[in-house]
Amino acid sequence: MTRGLIILIFALAIGGLVVIAARNLDLPWVIAGLSLPADAPIERRVGIISGHRGHDSGAVCDDGLTEAEVNFWHATRVADLLRANGYLVEVLDEYDARLKGYRASAVVSIHADSCVRLNAQATGFKVAYPAASEPSKRLAGCLTARYARRTGLGFHSRSITRDMTAYHAFAKVAPQTPIVIIETGFLFLDRQLLVRHPEIVAQGIAEGVLCFLRDESPET
Ligand SMILES: [Zn+2]
Repeated sequence: MTRGLIILIFALAIGGLVVIAARNLDLPWVIAGLSLPADAPIERRVGIISGHRGHDSGAVCDDGLTEAEVNFWHATRVADLLRANGYLVEVLDEYDARLKGYRASAVVSIHADSCVRLNAQATGFKVAYPAASEPSKRLAGCLTARYARRTGLGFHSRSITRDMTAYHAFAKVAPQTPIVIIETGFLFLDRQLLVRHPEIVAQGIAEGVLCFLRDESPET
């Protein structure tokens, strides 16, 4: 063997070990960038869109906290919880190239609402889905009921905007892929929950997805 070949083999082995170590440590910034293998069965696949990631910051608070970073904390935790239940999960960017024709058993896009002090009513979450998709509607029903129960937040239907009902990814994923978008709460009044307790937010979302995947009734 030539010396060059030995060095190449050695470098590949080290590279492989680094990837394996990163997966085992479950570092979110490493895991988030990984794609599922193309042959991963669709019924075990779940896509989580980390709102604004790779595009912009989303809402920004006076102290510099951004919606994009809060969404990412939630997205990576949801992914971990679903993986612990045996699902194959990938965290996607807001305008991820993989979204075109994307097939999975569920897709959830995670966003949060404004960090501006609006009024005393600017608290609560909301969920939207593509109106023509029956499975998306069921996913939204599960997510709404389970998220409300876990977090104690109310449903803030008055602030559902066209950005939500005509969300760009609804038209990108494959038509049979159930997809919803959730605004987890308002970054100003609901900050205590969203920032201090991301594990509760993630649990509420993961429980909603599992309710749908297991074909449970939202209220049980
Ligand atoms: Zn957003």
